[in-house]
Amino acid sequence: MPPVHDPQPPLVVGVLAVQGDVREHVRVLTALGAQPRTVRRPGELAGIQGLVIPGGESTTMDKLVRAFDLLDPLRDAIAGGLPVYGSCAGMIMLADRIVDQRADQQTLGGLDITVRRNAFGRQVDSFEEDIAFDGLVDPLHAVFIRAPWVEEVGKDVTVLARVEHGSAAGRIVAVRQGALLATSFHPEVTGDTRVHGLFVEMCRAG
Ligand code: GLN
Repeated sequence: MPPVHDPQPPLVVGVLAVQGDVREHVRVLTALGAQPRTVRRPGELAGIQGLVIPGGESTTMDKLVRAFDLLDPLRDAIAGGLPVYGSCAGMIMLADRIVDQRADQQTLGGLDITVRRNAFGRQVDSFEEDIAFDGLVDPLHAVFIRAPWVEEVGKDVTVLARVEHGSAAGRIVAVRQGALLATSFHPEVTGDTRVHGLFVEMCRAG
């Protein structure tokens, strides 16, 4: 048999692995044919073509990013145009502004948005809903876990999805600005690979 030539070399996508649901993102990226690489040290950013910042707890992630000397290297990577996808706490890490942040909480920034942490309140802090997502044909099953929402977007930010039902209807829960993508919800836990698929395309294009 002639050798099979994969026309595209494997895409190396980092997953920030200081805290949060790293394994789930690694699994989805692998399923999509990308080569995930966990990132805990500045040197591990070299050679990646994209980065996922998982869900977890943004206050803890912020502390660990600083403790691991990753704050400036990550900010530099974002400023340099590295495609980054942040899910839930990852969205908070990418936001330029937070409402209700913990004292001294910092973000990496890059996305011209204001997010509200734990925005859906105590009663409904975790819920699931099918929502339309710009660029995807069929609705997406979105899982929200103590999720933020986006209160304000800058003029260069594209809104990709909003909550459709209940008292939070209309709230923005997915955005893109250039090479940065963020969702309030967790596509990595549903078995639906389409959001990561969009991100992988962004990485290949980037
Ligand atoms: N509430 C968390 C925070 O503020 C985010 C929750 C999540 O990532 N599932 O960071």
